[in-house]
Amino acid sequence: MSLCSEYDVIVVGAGIAGISAAVKAGRSGVSVLLIEQYGFVGGMSTAGMVSPFMKHEVNGEVLVRGVFEDIEREMRKQHGMIDNGFFANAFRSASYHLLKEAGCTILLHSIISSVTKKNNRVESITVFVDGREFTIKGKIFIDTSGDAQLLFLADLPWVKGDEKTGLLQALTLFFRMGNINLKKVTEYAARNKSDFFDWMDYNFDFTKIISVAGYFSNVKKAIQEKRLSPEVQYIFFTTLPESGEGSFNTSNILELDGSSSIDLTKAELVGRNQVHQVVTLLKNEIPGFEHSYLLETAPQVGIRETRRAVGDYVVSGDDIKRGSKFDDAIARGCYGIDIHGQKDENSRMEHLADGDYYEIPMRALLVKNADNVLVAGRCISSTREGHSALRIQPTSSATGEACGALAALAVQSNSFIRSIGYKKVQELVSNNISK
Ligand SMILES: Cc1cc2nc3c(=O)[nH]c(=O)nc-3n(C[C@H](O)[C@H](O)[C@H](O)COP(=O)(O)OP(=O)(O)OC[C@H]3O[C@@H](n4cnc5c(N)ncnc54)[C@H](O)[C@@H]3O)c2cc1C
Repeated sequence: MSLCSEYDVIVVGAGIAGISAAVKAGRSGVSVLLIEQYGFVGGMSTAGMVSPFMKHEVNGEVLVRGVFEDIEREMRKQHGMIDNGFFANAFRSASYHLLKEAGCTILLHSIISSVTKKNNRVESITVFVDGREFTIKGKIFIDTSGDAQLLFLADLPWVKGDEKTGLLQALTLFFRMGNINLKKVTEYAARNKSDFFDWMDYNFDFTKIISVAGYFSNVKKAIQEKRLSPEVQYIFFTTLPESGEGSFNTSNILELDGSSSIDLTKAELVGRNQVHQVVTLLKNEIPGFEHSYLLETAPQVGIRETRRAVGDYVVSGDDIKRGSKFDDAIARGCYGIDIHGQKDENSRMEHLADGDYYEIPMRALLVKNADNVLVAGRCISSTREGHSALRIQPTSSATGEACGALAALAVQSNSFIRSIGYKKVQELVSNNISK
């Protein structure tokens, strides 16, 4: 691979939003550079080991298709996906395959360290490559860093946390266990329903993904006996493609900011300690876990929320709850407000009315005071409530794909992003919007 000093489209951050943006733009024939600080792509989907994909279907209609379905199809080919649950490894190889096919250049192990800007245009970014700084020019920049890192470096508008309190959602270190006796686990849950969340479905189908969440009395007792951190509130896992394997979304790390290296360092240590405590509890006390073992912890702690862009439109919690529709819709979602509470803050899960969905306007991808910068995924322009719904993987992919389409149109017509009519973008993402 050779690295050029100029690309049509530069995508910062190779999570699902960045991958989808790069693949979409690359498929249209423009030159694309996708930059990632880690040695592998996937962001929260791999580094954070987040599985499964959240709900994105209403009345039998799948709301997110396009690049997202291509990722799913590639993972299924590798037997890396069951139902909506998947292995991080399958996500990585599916993404590499699609990025290569789309002709994108991928630059791993490279962190962007500065940005040059003239008036309202970002002109270049600087990356630390092979021990020296390397400056790369671009026509359009897409910030899919999760932390709005490009906006931060370019002094473009962003906000962070709750509008009143400044609080950020809790962090979670995912882990994976093997050799779980699922029959015993599910029989135990069915016999002790009051000890589990009331949303649990007890019609267990072992050919699909199974979710188990609760063990409240074990957690309470372990906290009282000081065997478990009081931050852990319940044990939650979903099954994975390999029989007997579970992916645990259980640790709960509070009062730390996922965009600070110092806080993240603390979070990694706190998270690993909690994982050790939970694994010990499961093996010693919970039927079905007697012969289980810890397979791995995620390479990095999972971050739900940091900076968000301030864009031409700010998607609000009301837009989510009332299922707002927009003329310039470029994506849809049906996942509700989901805030994992901080210390002294209640968690919130508020669903949409049955069968309803919302649309996401193209204006939420356009950053204020910036002529050639787009945002997608976790960086999307939204309130804290709006963000808590839009952040899930399928929606992040759809907003990323729309950015890729818009960026390619702007490059091909040598126009400003704001002079590209939304109808042209809608034609390119027609699979992801209402007919
Ligand atoms: C604990 C937890 C549980 C979740 N559960 C679910 C779930 O069950 N289902 C679901 O669908 N979603 C879930 N989500 C949400 C979802 O995983 C994420 O919001 C989504 O994957 C975000 O994708 P993204 O591409 O916007 O950002 P990210 O995946 O965060 O990707 C950003 C990328 O940018 C890179 N980057 C950052 N800064 C730089 C820089 N300066 N230079 C170069 N690269 C940089 C990062 O390394 C990363 O790879 C969960 C999230 C968490 C944390």
